[in-house]
Amino acid sequence: MLHKILPSFILFFAIIAFSATSAHAQLEYKNGIIWDRPERVEGAMPVCTPAPEGAVVLFDGKDMSAFNNAQNWVVKDGYAEVHGGTATTKQAFGSCHIHIEWASPEKVSGHGQGRGNSGVYIMGKYEVQILDSYENETYFDGQCASIYKQSPPLKNVCRKPGEWQSYDITFTAPKFDEKGNVTRKARLTVVQNGVTVQDDFELQGGTFWYRPAGYQPHAEKLPMSLQDHGNPVRFRNIWIQEIED
Ligand code: MG
Repeated sequence: MLHKILPSFILFFAIIAFSATSAHAQLEYKNGIIWDRPERVEGAMPVCTPAPEGAVVLFDGKDMSAFNNAQNWVVKDGYAEVHGGTATTKQAFGSCHIHIEWASPEKVSGHGQGRGNSGVYIMGKYEVQILDSYENETYFDGQCASIYKQSPPLKNVCRKPGEWQSYDITFTAPKFDEKGNVTRKARLTVVQNGVTVQDDFELQGGTFWYRPAGYQPHAEKLPMSLQDHGNPVRFRNIWIQEIED
């Protein structure tokens, strides 16, 4: 009896699994824009600026206590490595300058979006992508230093896997009226390894994998997150200077 039923069961579950996979694949949003390939720039060096006076130091090499959900991150030799969840700052920030140094895993594994993926989620909503984009193809508006699904970087200045890199991000927070309409869109400038890779880009809203960018009203200040995308990306020297506006 079992030998008659079993193949039907296997077929049934295979169909379910295939449908689920197909449905999942269809969920990814693609904006349809054909971008030019960002020009490759060799030799850009990280800019390792110490926290200036008045900056909020989020990680100085010792502990991740300025973050929630970072208890499983590996803190060693002055760096913090992604492990066991997306870390989110305890403090909330609005317009600000963010300095962060990071390194994708020296041991290369995976490809495309699966290689050295993390991200700086400003206000928990606006992602500056972190990815190992050193000889690693993916869609241009998803590669390293892209504003995810909105803007590819102006240049690809990625260093080799395992090498330290720097981001200096200047972020202007969006403003909303009392009805929830956006009255000032968010803006981003990103300098990676001393090279401007996003130049005062006006965001079209939150960065999503599954739907077009869009604004939803939110508080003037919100925590920043560092994404756990399952890859052991390392971070060091993280600080934020708030900008009054
Ligand atoms: Mg990411």
